Amino acid sequence: MTNTKTMAAQIERINSIITGAAEYYKVAICSNTYGYMDNRIKQTAYRTFRKIYGKKYKKHHIPMAKLSNRPQRHENRQDKTFAVEHNEKWIGITKAYITHSQRDKFNYNQKMTPYSSEGRQLYIIEKKGRKLPALDRPPIYEDVELFTCEEKSLNSFEYYMNREYAYNRDRGRCKICGENLRPKFRHCQRLDGTLQLDKINRVPNLAWFCYNCIKIITGGEIPPNTNSKMKSKTERYGAKLKVLN
Ligand SMILES: [Zn+2]
Repeated sequence: MTNTKTMAAQIERINSIITGAAEYYKVAICSNTYGYMDNRIKQTAYRTFRKIYGKKYKKHHIPMAKLSNRPQRHENRQDKTFAVEHNEKWIGITKAYITHSQRDKFNYNQKMTPYSSEGRQLYIIEKKGRKLPALDRPPIYEDVELFTCEEKSLNSFEYYMNREYAYNRDRGRCKICGENLRPKFRHCQRLDGTLQLDKINRVPNLAWFCYNCIKIITGGEIPPNTNSKMKSKTERYGAKLKVLN
């Protein structure tokens, strides 16, 4: 039988296809498409899990809120999906409907048009008043990283999952300056780098910083114009940091 890590990585590969397709359809009337996709995937998953686990397949049908993969996407979702357990973490199949429809964000109105001042005004009012949907972002890991990661290494499966959790915990912001983190300019730091492999990748030991701040806390100088609040945060994290020499 395929090992659970490979299955978990396969599920994440499927998830990237599901979310990719959902992104594609989100600008159109998509709830029917989402429903169709989710149903077909559920049926296929049901047959696959029955085949693998027999009558025990029900143990693999769990609320999405319990999943470790894509915690931001799945948080507070109580409806069930199929999942595998790997190292005490549940990795499950996502659902297309979770992707926010862009169309639903606006109350379209026949009079809303770019060709009249009244039409433009209606659009502006609608846009301003809209409630922004929760940030729906792709996970930080690549599925290939899940396939190739080694169990007893620093960048283990646990690391990728917990790093994602820490990112979600901090709402994608730098622990020091509070700026929104951007790809390529963010860094996940293990605060105590001297811990054993089984403890080093726990969520409380992981923190996200922007490139500027990580440079400072790992030995750079604090810029003279730094305000006192940021300065004390920088010093606190600098003192907390234990790097393996
Ligand atoms: Zn920062």
